Amino acid sequence: MKTIFDTIIKRYWNDAHTIPSFVAGEFILGSGENIVIRQAHDGSELFRYPDADDSIIMQANNAAKVAGKAWWNMSAQARGQIMYRIGMKIREQLDDLAIIESYAANKPIRDAKVEVLKVAEMFEYYAGWADKLHGEVIPVPTSHLNYVKYEPLGTVLQITPWNAPIFTAGWQLAPAIAAGNAVILKPSELTPISSLLLGALAHEAGTPKGLINVIAGYGHTAGQVAIKQADIRKVVFVGSPATGKRIAVSAAERGIPCVLELGGKSANIVFEDADLDLAIRGAQAAIFSGAGQSCVSGSRLLVQESIYDRFCEAVAQAAKHFVIGNPHDETTQIGPIHNAKQYNHVTTMLDNAVKEGATIIQNGLPSVPQSDGYYVNPTVLKGQNHMMCAQEEIFGPVVVAIPFKDEDDAIAIANDSRFGLAGAVWTRDVGRAHRIADQVKAGTFWINSYKTINVASPFGGYGESGYGRSSGLDALREYSEVKSVWVETARTPAANFGYGANLE
Ligand code: NAD
Repeated sequence: MKTIFDTIIKRYWNDAHTIPSFVAGEFILGSGENIVIRQAHDGSELFRYPDADDSIIMQANNAAKVAGKAWWNMSAQARGQIMYRIGMKIREQLDDLAIIESYAANKPIRDAKVEVLKVAEMFEYYAGWADKLHGEVIPVPTSHLNYVKYEPLGTVLQITPWNAPIFTAGWQLAPAIAAGNAVILKPSELTPISSLLLGALAHEAGTPKGLINVIAGYGHTAGQVAIKQADIRKVVFVGSPATGKRIAVSAAERGIPCVLELGGKSANIVFEDADLDLAIRGAQAAIFSGAGQSCVSGSRLLVQESIYDRFCEAVAQAAKHFVIGNPHDETTQIGPIHNAKQYNHVTTMLDNAVKEGATIIQNGLPSVPQSDGYYVNPTVLKGQNHMMCAQEEIFGPVVVAIPFKDEDDAIAIANDSRFGLAGAVWTRDVGRAHRIADQVKAGTFWINSYKTINVASPFGGYGESGYGRSSGLDALREYSEVKSVWVETARTPAANFGYGANLE
């Protein structure tokens, strides 16, 4: 499969051992410090490439400014058609893009395919919106016609993480360009390849050159230089809470707004009256899929006291049927942790959890491959909500199971977190399900389900999980300026002073 991977890369740029940036429709190699990317299943080096230098980001800024105007000057229908073509190209190249993503994100190939398909859906969904972004007429009490228009911001900067690179790129690019903006996208330095190919595919589909520019480089260098570009009108950041706060400060220094899509510690609540077989599968999918490297993971499993012990055992037991292995094998369900730094974080968090009194259920858990890869066993920890393992993001296949007494106790524990990204409840009591959904502070909540998301539905966090919304109409509003236009329609207009007070 590595040979296919190299061949796909060479279709875009000649040397399959390095990574350029994509600026103004061309691939340009940086000249900064070398960045090394490793394969997570064996630790071997996959790429070594130079960080994007400042001149590349300045070129991207200039190209985006010109392209943004050209894009907005096209008819809304033409923009929509080009966006449909991007979706079509993604579908045509599904297998290739999935291979790329599997290498880029060290992600099981089956998960990569699903995520690439979702990216096609994102462009198709927002293609449909391109010619429906009409304004409104407001019934003001004066003789004016007052109408509201939605206009592009100009150029937006998007900064994305390593855990789902092509998914996150599509998720933010599609609404941004549907609303008429140009984009500079700075993916994680560890996973730029699939975002680069997405930028190139959009260009092939007919977007003006420079509408989507993708920078391959570090955050503290290339990312910071990009935030400082005078034409950037908004920063949309997806990543860790610590970096998000830093980026919000940098954006505030320039007086521009941010959207922050950050981490979570989501509560997955199981009542004794739930369909327990379904809830066990739901609890596993919530934390073990993607090896737990998902912002919405159900990383706190709240279980009613009466079923706590046997439910925890059952989740651990059932986990032994997972196929853990090389992400590029079609049969692999759970791959390794993406990179060495994250692997060290997960294993340190596990050690600390045991030191602070959490117990690991050993019984029935599967064994990870014996290799130099960054594998972590899917793990169920029995713990309490005050423990660090229940308060901090682990971002690995580790769930902390916490007992609760009743409904009020479950809600109190669920909300005893600085995060508020997602949550779920498993119960057959309809009234209770809605009461819990109403009370838990989270941007996304599931009832008898977990992790279903769709581009049409808004997504975002409460509390330190961030602010602003992605997906659906909400994302289009995030990527738009709102203009209110007042037109005097009276035969003999009154001359007003200040906010409408009559001069006479
Ligand atoms: P990270 O914060 O380390 O990096 C994210 C991005 O920020 C990368 O592109 C990085 O290069 C850039 N960056 C780092 N320092 C920067 C700086 N000083 N200035 C500008 N840019 C900078 O996050 P990560 O480790 O790549 O991703 C994991 C995190 O992402 C987890 O916390 C996870 O929960 C979160 N996440 C959130 C969502 C969501 O939608 N809420 C989705 C996916 C991942």
